Amino acid sequence: MASATETGRQATAAPAPRPPAIELRGISKSFGAVQANKDISIRVRPGTIHGIVGENGAGKSTLMSILYGFYRADAGEILIDGRPTVIPDSQSAIRAGIGMVFQHFKLVPNFSVLENVILGAEDGALLRPSLAKARKTLADLARDYELDVDPDALVEELSVGHQQRVEILKALYRHADILILDEPTGVLTPDEADHLFRILRGLKAQGKTILLITHKLREIMEITDEVSVMRRGEMVATVTTADTSPEQLAELMVGRKVLLHVPKGPANPGREVLRVSDLHVTDALGVERLKGINLTIRAGEILGIAGVAGNGQSELLQVLGGFAKGTVSGMIAVEGAQIPAAGKGATGQTRRQIGISHVPEDRHHLGLILDFAAWENIAFGYHSAPEYQANALFMDNDAILRDTEGKMDRFDVRPPDPSLPAKSFSGGNQQKIVLAREIERNPVLLLVGQPTRGVDIGAIEFIHRRIVELRDAGAAVLLVSVELDEILSLSDRIAVMFDGQIMGERLPAETNERELGLLMAGVARTAGAA
Ligand code: ADP
Ligand code: MG
Repeated sequence: MASATETGRQATAAPAPRPPAIELRGISKSFGAVQANKDISIRVRPGTIHGIVGENGAGKSTLMSILYGFYRADAGEILIDGRPTVIPDSQSAIRAGIGMVFQHFKLVPNFSVLENVILGAEDGALLRPSLAKARKTLADLARDYELDVDPDALVEELSVGHQQRVEILKALYRHADILILDEPTGVLTPDEADHLFRILRGLKAQGKTILLITHKLREIMEITDEVSVMRRGEMVATVTTADTSPEQLAELMVGRKVLLHVPKGPANPGREVLRVSDLHVTDALGVERLKGINLTIRAGEILGIAGVAGNGQSELLQVLGGFAKGTVSGMIAVEGAQIPAAGKGATGQTRRQIGISHVPEDRHHLGLILDFAAWENIAFGYHSAPEYQANALFMDNDAILRDTEGKMDRFDVRPPDPSLPAKSFSGGNQQKIVLAREIERNPVLLLVGQPTRGVDIGAIEFIHRRIVELRDAGAAVLLVSVELDEILSLSDRIAVMFDGQIMGERLPAETNERELGLLMAGVARTAGAA
């Protein structure tokens, strides 16, 4: 360009500003009747970490898929480094210098790290000379960016954190200057997430541009330079991170003010409600999933179970909820009376009849029957409740319908139509249906797993409020969550699970994410560990 040469000659003139690494102009994309992206424009400055936030379904992944050549936009333009660029497929994206780290990794499990990195990058890549050259390149990348992974390890033997590093190495090996990460920390421990952030900072220092999609506002505040907020397919704002706050971002995402931490007074623990002693569960394959769990919960208190998914939390909820798979030993007592691992207790009462409510981790599997109407789901598990009986033989469908309308109203389920099948509600509204059913029974013990997984910020506030209210009304609550924020803001006591055991118990006011993260990784440090 002539003008660039002009300015180049004038030594005193300020250098011409670099064009945005990525510029999107007026991108639109529909899937049938759903307009996932509406006239979206955004500029991402080179060498920065740019966050994108938005509730579920806001259109973030669609936008990134357009940038990576998975989808063609219906309208709009993409400019890379100021040049209009057409990206019809991912090969073109790679040629344009764009790398993508997928939410669900696309690595070949029984290939080595080295093989995965070079696979598809060049013809004949798996031939010996290429392998040697690639090994050297990989070692350089690993050294420059704290991306250490054993090049000869099989991918299937790596932790998720390491698999993610392989995905990043793969992109860098293809000379990516722009890296897109879609919800990268969902699968990581806090320590692994810290490590990832160090890698991203290193990449930024080398001039790479990073697009980070995350729903975790803390991560946005910690690592991004700028952040763009999407709502219902539209780009509502782009702000400088240093000039914003989690509260402002949440408000932009939802379109109204939301409380990120529900107000909660100190607990008033009363009588002991749940006691679990030396509980073991061995699954059908002979793997011991719970290795001697001991815990108690009192009335009016929330015990939070923190941990990386897959460390026995699911099995704990299942056995307490009466759905244990495999062999169980040990003792479970509710209000002093022992209950069996499955079925009715000595008194002939079911778990629900003795006042145990259960909001399962997987609402689609155990919580709801998706093809059944909302009102049928509200009665699910409570068919014998007296208020639902017309007479000895028949259920009173009108009574269930009226009750469902009330619950939908009080729990702000949208749309408030009891006749709609459960599957036609959004994730957050499905969760409210399950919570309404379980919480309004005024249980003595609420078992609740991942209450806000896949649920929007506005609904999270609502759900957290209901759980705290139930505690204040005197229920004992066992909360299992992989979201540390949620554990820290709701729990009165926190127990950390690792490898089927409780690594230690902490008071929220006397611990922090770092210490909990160490316990979650199996590192017990102090006398507090069990
Ligand atoms: P986000 O990543 O912000 O959660 P998505 O981009 O995945 O949002 O989705 C935006 C909207 O587009 C949602 O309503 C989603 O259901 C819809 N959508 C996304 N991908 C498809 C697809 N392949 N077919 C139909 N609808 C889709
Ligand atoms: Mg997405």
